[in-house]
Amino acid sequence: MKADVILLKYGEISLKGLNRPVFEKQLISNISHAVAPLGRFSIRKSQSTVYVEPLDSGIDMGLAAERLSKVFGIVNICPAARCEKTMESIEKTTLECLAEMELGGKTFKVEAKREDKQFPMNSPQICRHMGAVILKNTEGLTVDVHKPDILVQIEIRKDAYIFTEKISGAGGMPVGTAGRAALLLSGGIDSPVAGWMISKRGVMLEAVHFHSHPYTSDRAKEKVIELAKIISAYTGEIRLHIIPFTDIQLDIIDKCPKEYLTIIMRRLMMRIAEKTAVANGASALITGESIGQVASQTMESLVVTDNAVSMPVFRPCIGMDKEEIVSISKKIDTYETSILPYEDCCTIFVPKHPKTKPSISEIEAAEKLLTDPEGMMAAAIANEELVIIKQ
Ligand code: ATP
Ligand code: MG
Repeated sequence: MKADVILLKYGEISLKGLNRPVFEKQLISNISHAVAPLGRFSIRKSQSTVYVEPLDSGIDMGLAAERLSKVFGIVNICPAARCEKTMESIEKTTLECLAEMELGGKTFKVEAKREDKQFPMNSPQICRHMGAVILKNTEGLTVDVHKPDILVQIEIRKDAYIFTEKISGAGGMPVGTAGRAALLLSGGIDSPVAGWMISKRGVMLEAVHFHSHPYTSDRAKEKVIELAKIISAYTGEIRLHIIPFTDIQLDIIDKCPKEYLTIIMRRLMMRIAEKTAVANGASALITGESIGQVASQTMESLVVTDNAVSMPVFRPCIGMDKEEIVSISKKIDTYETSILPYEDCCTIFVPKHPKTKPSISEIEAAEKLLTDPEGMMAAAIANEELVIIKQ
């Protein structure tokens, strides 16, 4: 269907009380950002609906709808035709919309909503009238009020809007309304999903990636940049801090008992991520961990990892099976990139028999053997490479 305008419906925001305008303002700003690369638009809000109308000719509204399907805070996306608020013009426009569709053997139903109570017909009257008009002027359509193939929706507002398609939005809350957190982003399947899930609740992301050149390749780094790019379509701009981790890893391998290697490495990652978070205005950490997935994610290991930092650590995948995480990663398009076979610094130097039930005291004792952890962490942070990923 040729869309003159896209109507966006929001859900949870409309439940907000006094600070609802703050959420709406952020949502409109995020919507503007999402469609800006396609041309100029007028974007305005009225009665829990945002209207996105192109101001330039030739804008691809299908592409606009696709970009809007990644903006958190929107529940439904309805590309619509707009016409004058007269029955004559509503009939004409509705039939034009249907003429563009494959109708043979299909069923339909009309649904009407009248925001403008001055309009001479009420909603049931509009439905009955338009149902009859459609039956009379099309071929192959029959009515099914329970499970129609085509739902013709007519909304009478300042103008009349007609649409047959309701695309599911990304849900959640507008990014920028819930603070900032630092995502520990590896090249795997779980951490991009974890970042997406927290961002869905309105949180802006800072990302931290540890790489171990020359043990991990540039391609592994490129893969992480690509993952950040994919999720930035949802999360907005991400500042990705790429932190050289080789010296720290080599020192751990050199000085600490083998079975503690992974857990100590993870604790130092958390501590560097926390420092990076503080320096960049983020107030929590996010990881892709899930209980029991690997040795470093047993209950005991997670307790020891948490103990390394004082910031809260959000682990949205914690109770999810791998299959469930994979299904989200496919939905958000990170899966194909995540499974590219480049090594991660966690997967090199993996001990054969990692400790699965470490205690804080034994790990702290092992960490005393490190040469100069504070100095090495400061050096790693000083040598970070910052990549700014625009939406
Ligand atoms: P993922 O699929 O996200 O890589 P994983 O199942 O491979 O997770 P681990 O390698 O044990 O699990 O890592 C657990 C979490 O630690 C990751 O989800 C991520 O948040 C963080 N992490 C691991 N490696 C790195 C890295 N190189 N840089 C930044 N964070 C990392
Ligand atoms: Mg990993």
